Amino acid sequence: MVLHVKNNSNNLSRAMDHGIQQKLAANILLLGAENVGKSALTVRFLTRRFIGEYGDIESIYSHNDKVDGQEISFNIWDSLYPQSCFAPESITDKQLQWADGVILVYSICDRASFDVVRQQVQLIRRSRKMSVHAPIVIVGNKRDLQHQREVPSEEGRLFALSADCGFFEISAAETYHGALLVFHELLERIKESRAIKKGLVGIKGIVRTVSAVFGKKRAE
Ligand code: GDP
Ligand code: MG
Repeated sequence: MVLHVKNNSNNLSRAMDHGIQQKLAANILLLGAENVGKSALTVRFLTRRFIGEYGDIESIYSHNDKVDGQEISFNIWDSLYPQSCFAPESITDKQLQWADGVILVYSICDRASFDVVRQQVQLIRRSRKMSVHAPIVIVGNKRDLQHQREVPSEEGRLFALSADCGFFEISAAETYHGALLVFHELLERIKESRAIKKGLVGIKGIVRTVSAVFGKKRAE
């Protein structure tokens, strides 16, 4: 597998939309406070490894994979939470416009990071840059640090349910499986949301055709 920073993933998505390639592209944005394990989760998914320290690097990774027999091109934007502001405006329009789905990460031993996730969910749900049903998966990371837990599992799960988001508690440090579940769940949600959009376009098309027919009849 090759890891490289990629800047033209929107072109790839557009190409996909026009059916030029058969591969399905999914642009996935990772958000959340700093130090919660966004990079650890990304690297776990990409390399199956946990390397401990990741530095402050903002990257978009491209990764080709096969999920349920289908070729998927994952584009993963591992973001940095800005040091200078604690405002939910820390999510840019560009990020939301780019993303097909969002993974919001908090640490189960850092309540403030859970509050950041709650603010960011509200912001995404209110943003016009993404649909109100935009695919989101919430991740409570660092599950291995039970003795330092500040956010009960149920609280995370109930919040995710109320906001129509997927939810997992994982330990990026301990297992690869959790990371895999998170990305695959988001992929499922992205596929569902695309199918719904296509369905709506289909219905709009039928409505247009029917009104054209009736309009014509009336005119005759
Ligand atoms: P980011 O700022 O959200 O990208 O966080 P990082 O991925 O850089 O991780 C921040 C720190 O938390 C690093 O020291 C990681 O080794 C550590 N870390 C990440 N995931 C886990 C986890 O699941 N368990 C534990 N114990 N530490 C973790
Ligand atoms: Mg990071």
